[in-house]
Amino acid sequence: MSFESLIDHSKRYGSDASFVLLGGGNTSYKDGNVMYVKASGHALGTITAEGFVRMDLSKMEKIWSKKYSSDDEEREDEVLKDMMDCRLEGETARPSVEALLHALLPFPYVIHLHPALVNGLTCAVEGEKTVHTLFPESLWIELVKPGFILANIVRERMEKQKNESGTTSSMIFLQNHGIFVGGQSLEEIEEVYHSVMGKIESKLKRLPDFSELPVDGEKVSQINAALGSVTDENILVAWNTEFAHFLENEKSFEQIGSSFTPDHIVYAGFKPLWVAKNEDVLAAFASFEKENNVKPKVVCVQGTGVFSLGEKPMPLFFDSVSVSVYSESFGGPQFMDKPMIDFIRNWEVEKYRSTVAAK
Ligand SMILES: [Zn+2]
Repeated sequence: MSFESLIDHSKRYGSDASFVLLGGGNTSYKDGNVMYVKASGHALGTITAEGFVRMDLSKMEKIWSKKYSSDDEEREDEVLKDMMDCRLEGETARPSVEALLHALLPFPYVIHLHPALVNGLTCAVEGEKTVHTLFPESLWIELVKPGFILANIVRERMEKQKNESGTTSSMIFLQNHGIFVGGQSLEEIEEVYHSVMGKIESKLKRLPDFSELPVDGEKVSQINAALGSVTDENILVAWNTEFAHFLENEKSFEQIGSSFTPDHIVYAGFKPLWVAKNEDVLAAFASFEKENNVKPKVVCVQGTGVFSLGEKPMPLFFDSVSVSVYSESFGGPQFMDKPMIDFIRNWEVEKYRSTVAAK
């Protein structure tokens, strides 16, 4: 059965860290008027049939003729409510915010991922130019607010493309986010991903070097103990050639010092904390918290180590470093801009609030 093969493929992509990390990415399958799409709060790598929610496609189509509030929070609340009403009877899970995009792509299967390699392009100064050269058949979507606004822009661009060329692209690159690929079969999508990754790889000038380096044990345990007094989370430490390169000085740190994609904000915080070699870690931590009303999740100590507060920030920090290295081959890194970072930070709070309220 096709839905079952979607589950198999979702698990495979989801277990491969080069395609997606933690809860990122989502997949869908359309069967007539019904779309099976990943529900919120599930990770692809461990997904089962229960991780998908069935939606009525003709009801979803009606969303496009509705008028929504111009206020970000109100609009997303209204759209979410309408999306909930598009679920088939008996469905209780919340569809992913990206379900609207899945519905728009006129292909039975859609796989949306956040591969570091692809984001090396979508988060690069020359990303758009390179995408047009390497993948002229694809659509490029600039940085826009996720959720309804993003889906609406994709819809407009797809219509324009169809009117102009009579075709609909099966490949969409989203700036500072990832890629959507649609296909008639999962095998077809697999081939597209294979070719996309291969083409990007062939253009890389260098690869990240995560060879481990020895640490100053005494210094690391001092910092560990200090951080232990401001967090209940497990503290992970990593140190390797690439981290040493970016943590050489404040200037090199700039290349990894902000957020590339929403995933990075959600799991690793909106930016890592920079601590200069002779600076007091706790003092730097306290001023970060005071200035930003949030604790840092990743602490980068010059020439010493990267400290992750909790298990989740570390893989995202590695990903961020990979993205930055890949982007060097395409004009250098380009982070999300401040208004977008603020929007995502605020949206996360909202999402949390709505989860709590729904309980
Ligand atoms: Zn996404």
